[in-house]
Amino acid sequence: MHIAIVGTGVVGACTAGWLQRDGHTITFVDPREAGEACSFGNAGSLSPSACLPVGMPGMWRNIPKWLLDPEGPLVIRAHYLPRILPWLLQFMQASTEKEVVRIATAVRNLLRPVFEAYEPLAQRAGASSLIRRNGCLYVYSSRESARRWKWGMDLRRNLGVEMREVDSDELAELEPALKGTFRFGQFASDNGSTPDPSALVKAIYGQAIKDGATHVRSSVTGFELTGGVVDRLVLDDGERLEVDGVVLAAGAWSARLSRQLGARIPLESQRGYHVTVADPNVILERNVMAVEHNIMVNPMHSGLRLAGTVEFAGLNAPPRYERAESLLRKGNDLFPGLHGSRESYWMGHRPCLPDSLPVIGLAPKADNAFLGFGHGHVGMCGGATTGREIANLVSGRDPEVDLSPFSPTRFR
Ligand SMILES: Cc1cc2nc3c(=O)[nH]c(=O)nc-3n(C[C@H](O)[C@H](O)[C@H](O)COP(=O)(O)OP(=O)(O)OC[C@H]3O[C@@H](n4cnc5c(N)ncnc54)[C@H](O)[C@@H]3O)c2cc1C
Repeated sequence: MHIAIVGTGVVGACTAGWLQRDGHTITFVDPREAGEACSFGNAGSLSPSACLPVGMPGMWRNIPKWLLDPEGPLVIRAHYLPRILPWLLQFMQASTEKEVVRIATAVRNLLRPVFEAYEPLAQRAGASSLIRRNGCLYVYSSRESARRWKWGMDLRRNLGVEMREVDSDELAELEPALKGTFRFGQFASDNGSTPDPSALVKAIYGQAIKDGATHVRSSVTGFELTGGVVDRLVLDDGERLEVDGVVLAAGAWSARLSRQLGARIPLESQRGYHVTVADPNVILERNVMAVEHNIMVNPMHSGLRLAGTVEFAGLNAPPRYERAESLLRKGNDLFPGLHGSRESYWMGHRPCLPDSLPVIGLAPKADNAFLGFGHGHVGMCGGATTGREIANLVSGRDPEVDLSPFSPTRFR
């Protein structure tokens, strides 16, 4: 079949790789180059352990404190408050213990095969070195402080995540740069990361092009359907692209297009920021999550990257790089004297649903349109598995992961 993939982020690129293995012909449609939107500047964690939703039980108690702190992990810009309130209400409803267990189970199933799903794509693209499998450290100022996160960590363990406790001596041995500030950790040995998420996406996309895919540099504005199937994509210059099938993987920009395919999805951007310190004097071997600060620190090819924060302001408001500067200030608290040759700042739109689950499945209104978006904080972790599962759906094979929690119709 000739399948158009709308979006060349991690989900679109991986879906192409998996579909080509079944012999399908691919046309990417995206005005941007591959791996330049949210898949560009994320923290690069590839973690089967990252199964907890954003909304955790009791979290609402912290929200007023966070909102009053300009350097806190959560910001809602005033103009956006009325728009985001109904979404936040749904978010709170998904934060009960029962819901969190259900959601974490579903996400764990999606993330468990992260390396298995990337491997054939990365290998074919000659990009295996862009995937590191050397674990991840969740670190805390003390063992006592870690108790606040015990419920979630126990849930992870119950779902089969290997997490070994690490005392301050071993922590300093594993990562000497953590000495002093962090005195307790949990080592998730099955985790990994990429030292360059954009390069990983570009490599998988580049291989898809070598294997015969083409790329139309336009925005999709709509679909033309006949008898319940999409037979043309409408492009922003008025051109039409004839297709046998379509995969919508346009990240945070997918909501309007998915409505045309019969799925009303409450998709929001949780804007996140990074600062990358080039040629840093702080050396880490692996991905580190500073849990009390909500910051992920990852040694990248381009330098030491500190990433995190959530900002609700929609897709169009300009970035506020003060958020990234505050990540750098926190970085200086965590690693006193942190410096490098220069810093770069970035903002990206995480595609988020209130239940922290992506949408993966057949579109309600078209028998040949598949949806794959909304991966929120774990799109790098879940992108390759999503591609594999969409290829299974397109080819009529049984899914290898239970896709029912990701149903496009669950918000009806
Ligand atoms: C600060 C930060 C840190 C993060 N850290 C991690 C992490 O450590 N691990 C992890 O797993 N995830 C992480 N994430 C989340 C991850 O980056 C995203 O979930 C993932 O990149 C989303 O990929 P995507 O392919 O869905 O979307 P994107 O990469 O955003 O790609 C969407 C593409 O669709 C295109 N598009 C949009 N509209 C149209 C249209 N109408 N027509 C054609 N094309 C269109 C865009 O141009 C874009 O190229 C982080 C995110 C942020 C912001």
